Amino acid sequence: MTSRPAPPPTAVDPEQQPPADPIQQAGTPEEDWQTWPALRSLPGVAPLACLPAPRDRPPRVLVVAAHPDDEVLGFGGTIAVLAAAGIRVRLVSVTDGEASHPHSNTAAARNLAAIRTRELREALARLGAADVQSVALGMPDGKVTRHEQELSSRLAELLRDCDLCVAPFSQDLHPDHEAAGRAALAAGAARGVAVWEYPVWAWHWAAPGDGRLPWHRAARLPLPFAALERKRAALACFHSQIEPLGDRPGDAAILPPAELAYFRRDFEVIWR
Ligand SMILES: [Zn+2]
Repeated sequence: MTSRPAPPPTAVDPEQQPPADPIQQAGTPEEDWQTWPALRSLPGVAPLACLPAPRDRPPRVLVVAAHPDDEVLGFGGTIAVLAAAGIRVRLVSVTDGEASHPHSNTAAARNLAAIRTRELREALARLGAADVQSVALGMPDGKVTRHEQELSSRLAELLRDCDLCVAPFSQDLHPDHEAAGRAALAAGAARGVAVWEYPVWAWHWAAPGDGRLPWHRAARLPLPFAALERKRAALACFHSQIEPLGDRPGDAAILPPAELAYFRRDFEVIWR
């Protein structure tokens, strides 16, 4: 997920300050989403029924993550469903997530890339997807926008033998998520492959019925009990994100329980 660092305090005229960053503001309680009937009424989609069946090979899905955990947060339950059905999944980690705690001085903060890569591997095993093909592009965490065109070319190459692309929401208000989403949309268009976008930060900054989200193309992916159990077990692997790195302010958990609650639901939502 990776936080977006708050800008350093400056002595500018308050009249001229940019609007507050919605990701830094308090998030929408999960209870608000749970009690919004329209969320449960979104059209349901069975991912296995949507996949084309190529004659010459098994179907394959390319799943893109800006940081090593986004794919589990937003799409992990469905990855478990796909893996259980023998669908081949190719996973792309755009960054190693090394900048999730930019203001921390703990040893863990300096080793975040290795820690987060290991956590993702453990999470994939808990999803029953230990044998997915993983591709790490090693782009700089927080600066994916600068490499968007290169990313789009890499994704177009990786999509060559895939039937569906799943990527972070291109309007998630986190610059890395948005750049990864836009790059995936461009790559999918170039290859003629459908792209599903999964929200992560939008659950935090949006509210039920929020006009900034494209509800007209939202769909709900129900998670069977076994997949939900696998996803919840996988979420528990991201210790560097769900627990504080230490006891200083820069060590705070990126995914405290109130944030994690969005991703423990028995369904996932995509825009298509
Ligand atoms: Zn992320």
